[in-house]
Amino acid sequence: MIQTDIIIIGAGPVGLFTVFEAGLLKLRCHLIDALPQAGGQCAEIYPKKPIYDIPAYPEILAGDLVDNLLKQIEPFNPGFTLGEPAVDIKETDDNQFIVTTKQGTQHQAPVVAIAGGLGVFVPRKPPIPELKKFEDKGVAYIIKDPEKYRDQRVVISGGGDSALDWAIYLADGIASEVTLVHRSESFRAHPDSVQKVIDQSTLGNIKLITNAEVKQLHGEKNLKGVEVCQKDGFGSLIETDHWLPLFGLTPKLGPIANWGLDIEKNAIKVNNALDYATNREGIYAIGDVNTYPGKLKLILCGFHEATVMVQSAFKRIYPDKKNVLKYTTVNGVKGFE
Ligand SMILES: Cc1cc2nc3c(=O)[nH]c(=O)nc-3n(C[C@H](O)[C@H](O)[C@H](O)COP(=O)(O)OP(=O)(O)OC[C@H]3O[C@@H](n4cnc5c(N)ncnc54)[C@H](O)[C@@H]3O)c2cc1C
Repeated sequence: MIQTDIIIIGAGPVGLFTVFEAGLLKLRCHLIDALPQAGGQCAEIYPKKPIYDIPAYPEILAGDLVDNLLKQIEPFNPGFTLGEPAVDIKETDDNQFIVTTKQGTQHQAPVVAIAGGLGVFVPRKPPIPELKKFEDKGVAYIIKDPEKYRDQRVVISGGGDSALDWAIYLADGIASEVTLVHRSESFRAHPDSVQKVIDQSTLGNIKLITNAEVKQLHGEKNLKGVEVCQKDGFGSLIETDHWLPLFGLTPKLGPIANWGLDIEKNAIKVNNALDYATNREGIYAIGDVNTYPGKLKLILCGFHEATVMVQSAFKRIYPDKKNVLKYTTVNGVKGFE
């Protein structure tokens, strides 16, 4: 049984920063994540994309933000259980929580902070025969490292931000050939990105095919080509090394939804006027996973929620101790041995 002060479910940016704020109050943390690495959406979905709204960073790659957060929490030496989804929570008679993962690892603490983001991500897959056969052999639903596509031919499907942003990015000197296939003539993506795709298509850097869908995949072991069918029935074979159907990811709250917490629209309701507590005393929800009037699913908002939440956790763990807010400039960062 792993013992700690705060069990944090979700090692995304908000879960990671919680370790820092808790550490300043001398509270130990242990993080659990279903993914094999820390960083949440930043590491899994868009590690190479720049973020522009982290205070004091005019621009930072999402992956670098995660690296910095990991460095910042090093002095507090948090524990990690990675690659294991938390599936069960039980409360003991002495107000402790026991959180168990799918693999059976057990963790015990007086406080649980759920920082599960949008939950576990499942990509929306197109209904194409032999799709499974080519997964990771030319077909991918998430771009983790754009360098994988250097000097390669790429076909992207989709009309949302992800599809258009990656088409623009890969066409800018990375892939040798980029084709964007979309089933309509109108796009859901930001107008700015739509204009950029049209401009790049006019310049010949992106081959744009609208009113069309990829219907079949070709290849022996690895993908060699995709068959594109237009609405008027006209079909053509495009030779390619990669097909990226970027139709979005469906978040699933998963087992957390069955933990007796108040849920609204796939998110956990919290008391935002006080401390981001859920309806179950001792369990808090912070970051993208929670909801309250005026909620914004932004990293900096999650950082604020984590900071407020740990103050309340301190009071629960040490009801008789007084905690005086101290600036790091005055007190420094005194970690754990
Ligand atoms: C393409 C894209 C661009 C974005 N750009 C920006 C931006 O510019 N600025 C900005 O502020 N925000 C941006 N965001 C949003 C930002 O990424 C989120 O607000 C942020 O990641 C939320 O952090 P989090 O720690 O709350 O959750 P997440 O990052 O979602 O991390 C949650 C973690 O919890 C884990 N988890 C869930 N359920 C369980 C379970 N049962 N057991 C174990 N682990 C579990 C998940 O595996 C995940 O790793 C963007 C998002 C996307 C998709």
